[in-house]
Amino acid sequence: MGPTESVLVAMEFTIARRTHKCWHKEDHLVKSGMPRLTVRNGNKAHHYCPKCATVLLAQSAEHLEQLLTGANRLKDV
Ligand SMILES: [Zn+2]
Repeated sequence: MGPTESVLVAMEFTIARRTHKCWHKEDHLVKSGMPRLTVRNGNKAHHYCPKCATVLLAQSAEHLEQLLTGANRLKDV
C-alpha cells in the first residue's frame, strides 16, 4: 500500500441530477440539485440524503477510531 492510498471506499458529495430516494430511507427524497453523499463500491454507487450521510459518516468515524485504537495496540506487539 502506497503512503497516500486510502482503505476507505470512495465517498464524495455530489449534486443530484434528478430527484430520487435516499438509499438508506426510502421516504427521504433527494431532490434534483440537492447535495448528497455518493458512496462508490466497485461499479455500484449509492446515494444518501444529507441527514443519513451525517449518521453514516459519524458511525464510520467511530468505527475508524476503534480500528485505529486496535492498530495502535497491535503495532508494537
Ligand atoms: Zn436519508
